[in-house]
Amino acid sequence: MDIAANLNSIRQRIAAACARAGRAPDAVTLLAVSKTHPPEAIAAAAACGQLLFGESKVQEAKAKIPLCPGKARWHLIGHLQSNKCRDAVELFQLIESVDSLALAQEINKRAAVAAKPMPVLLEVNVAGEASKFGYAPERLLAELAELNRLPRLEIHGLMTVPPYVTDAEKARPHFRRLRELKEQCEQILGAPLPQLSMGMSGDFEVAIEEGATIVRVGTALFGARPKLQREAPGA
Ligand SMILES: *Cc1c(COP(=O)(O)O)cnc(C)c1O
Repeated sequence: MDIAANLNSIRQRIAAACARAGRAPDAVTLLAVSKTHPPEAIAAAAACGQLLFGESKVQEAKAKIPLCPGKARWHLIGHLQSNKCRDAVELFQLIESVDSLALAQEINKRAAVAAKPMPVLLEVNVAGEASKFGYAPERLLAELAELNRLPRLEIHGLMTVPPYVTDAEKARPHFRRLRELKEQCEQILGAPLPQLSMGMSGDFEVAIEEGATIVRVGTALFGARPKLQREAPGA
């Protein structure tokens, strides 16, 4: 696995997608999804200047982060259980997977104890898939004002994992839907939401064309993950 070469190629593809969409090349941040991959792989990416990583499980991150370069920064991208909020607030610079008011309240409480703000994204289940976590769009719009009143929570934007497709074009309507939902949220909040986290190895270029500001790329950078682990979100 040539992580340096993969990283180069992903960076070029991001830049090309930005150019096609008339966006600045630095409008998109690459989140390297390192779940299941060892600290050595993370160190190899960090040596090439990739310092932002995504992990799905608090427990795995807790064991791994101390073994990784100290300048690395971490996003949680998998489902979070209330009893892991304390660790999550400590380990992650941003939690991308906030999917209920109860969870947001618990994160807020833990962030208050830790005396720090906690940047988050709100995860949306854009296609209403029964197997996935994430807010139903209507519910998010209904709860947004209350989420926004939690003093330690900083809502930076929205995240989604759309239905799996083999043809990236088929993901486009879902990415567009998330962008439109972000605009509705901005109306409710009366303030801009800077981040849209969408797009993975198979479809990040389409996501960029639809406005992604964070793309979450694992396989295209680190190679296939071991199959031991269930691939369901939050598994
Ligand atoms: C695993 C995962 C990714 C990365 O997927 P790849 O297809 O390997 O790029 C992105 N986002 C989430 C939420 C994930 O769980």
